[in-house]
Amino acid sequence: MIIAIDGPAASGKSTVAREVARRLHFQYLDTGAMYRAVTWQALEDKVDVFDQSALQGLARRIPLRFEKSEGNDIDDKVLVGDHDVTALIRSPKISSMVSLVARVSGVRKVMVEKQRELAQGHDAVVEGRDIGTVVFPHADVKVFLTASTVERARRRSAEMESEGHCVDVHSLERELISRDTIDSQRRSGPLLRACDAHVVNTTDRTIEQVVAEIIKLCERS
Ligand code: C5P
Repeated sequence: MIIAIDGPAASGKSTVAREVARRLHFQYLDTGAMYRAVTWQALEDKVDVFDQSALQGLARRIPLRFEKSEGNDIDDKVLVGDHDVTALIRSPKISSMVSLVARVSGVRKVMVEKQRELAQGHDAVVEGRDIGTVVFPHADVKVFLTASTVERARRRSAEMESEGHCVDVHSLERELISRDTIDSQRRSGPLLRACDAHVVNTTDRTIEQVVAEIIKLCERS
């Protein structure tokens, strides 16, 4: 069974998708982490983010993999070769650049192939922007999470502060809007609700409520 969870930045996808995967003992795949890792490698290698063919080549070469972190039962650790980049790919610099890399269709083609390979033969919860529309259009359950921009910025700022980053909630709000705009307007695999996705607005709801609703949808399918 494939559960596709899509939605804009900071709509609660990761928290909810991880918890659903834990409870159902499904594999967890964070596709945003893959685009972030490609962006991290591009910056490391000083690849111009406007050089589409260099980015596609890099996306092909990058030895990207996931592992379970210690004491955890889902694949939440992101590695490039043996380098643990889990924390590095969440930096404000990567967040501000990732949409420029993710809009390149050659990069998306390579990533979508990898995502299908990684989930193949597994029951999986896959989160991203184009999972229900492009990566797994026949997913058994499709969910599109939304939340108000103010709430999304508040959540992301709390998360970043807890990771030791210094944040200004207004600039964070601007960054989320700018990322959503680029993600929604690109030609290849835009951020889009699949017509058969269940829309869940998480603004005034607890994680537990949202997780329970998704598990109910899975039981019914
Ligand atoms: O989910 P997260 O916010 O970490 O995703 C980071 C970025 O990766 C998104 O803003 C988007 O540009 C890109 N992304 C994408 N397609 C996906 C997942 C993420 O384009 N399936």
